[in-house]
Amino acid sequence: MKANGTAARHLDLALAATLFAELERRTRRDGGIVRDSYGEGEQAAHDLMREAALGLRLEPSVDAIGNLYLTLPGTDRQAPRILIGSHLDSVPQGGNFDGAAGVVAGLCALGALRAAGASLRCDVVVMAIRAEESAWFDVSYLGSGGALGLLDPACLAVRRSDTGRTLEETLTARGFDPGAIRERRALLDRRSVRAYLELHIEQGPRLAAEGAPVAVVTGIRGCKRFRNARCVGEYGHSGALPRALRHDAVAATVALLGYLEQAWSREEAAGSDLLVTTGELHTDAHAHAPSKVAGETRFSIDLRSLSIEIMERIADETRRAAVEIGRRYRVAFELGAATDSPPAIMDPGLRAALLRQLEQPLEMPSGAGHDAATFASAGIPSGMIFVRNEHGSHNPAESMALEDFAVGTRALIGLLEDFPL
Ligand SMILES: [Zn+2]
Repeated sequence: MKANGTAARHLDLALAATLFAELERRTRRDGGIVRDSYGEGEQAAHDLMREAALGLRLEPSVDAIGNLYLTLPGTDRQAPRILIGSHLDSVPQGGNFDGAAGVVAGLCALGALRAAGASLRCDVVVMAIRAEESAWFDVSYLGSGGALGLLDPACLAVRRSDTGRTLEETLTARGFDPGAIRERRALLDRRSVRAYLELHIEQGPRLAAEGAPVAVVTGIRGCKRFRNARCVGEYGHSGALPRALRHDAVAATVALLGYLEQAWSREEAAGSDLLVTTGELHTDAHAHAPSKVAGETRFSIDLRSLSIEIMERIADETRRAAVEIGRRYRVAFELGAATDSPPAIMDPGLRAALLRQLEQPLEMPSGAGHDAATFASAGIPSGMIFVRNEHGSHNPAESMALEDFAVGTRALIGLLEDFPL
């Protein structure tokens, strides 16, 4: 089953350990890691990766919005390149591995290829991507979307959550060129990219629960969300109103969410990929009371799936159920418009080739967004590896064992040596 090539034996884990330790030393503030998008922390991480790349004799370059490219030249410099990317920013008080693990893996993979004297036909490029975490600028995939010229120029007016400075001001202050985003300039020609690969820590508990060091990602789930759903009934006295005369918004909302819960169970039993969450649910604190029938609720419904069809089917069912339950309870549901972010499916050829590199072949979907979604949506064949990680992500307790990182990085190296596309 396992077929890592010869270069995997040259993986320098001491380099990885040094880079993770140095990243932590340079970007720890108080209890957590702070690599703020287009701030000091993110820049410190970029500087470190650039230093490491020079040590490996890779060619560094930076695009107009600050993405860093570290290139191992191929024998045919014109051939479409393979990118190995991830982001170097973190959320405020985040962990050391979310994002950075992918860049370190890329560097270690290129180091191993160099040490093995392996020559690839095309360039292989580690891409240290800017600003993936929308905690700083509320823009999805700022660095990767900007590289491909996909951003709405209106995002230049978005303000950083802590400094209040706009993206335009922040880019300019860092010496980058906001004009690239304004003109939707593609800094990376998608025809020049043969494939995009990303190693990332798993942000959920599945790999730890299954006792597996890594998994190949099938795709990045999309999301369909009713952000501001509402149920409108009528307030009334809890002791004076018989059931038949009530317009009880809470009872109706519970019925609707119960319906959704059953729909989810049914889909699960049928093997559908689906997650259903109501993360917000409240009555009006100014009007509710224990002795009142509630006249209004507000709630959210968040649907996630690898399949647009499943999300649309469940959304349609929810709309129909809202009408029927609304009639039964004499209330009106206003679900509002749903916001959509489509799923991104990883390339089947890359998935199969990555699985062949693993002793314990395992696949799983990603519930969280990653830069790979930008590349896959742009039509670039993309592949992802998840590495086991304890305690979730986006917090200082993120914990990835170096041995697990090695399993994932060796799979990357093996894939590069025997590239399927
Ligand atoms: Zn991440």
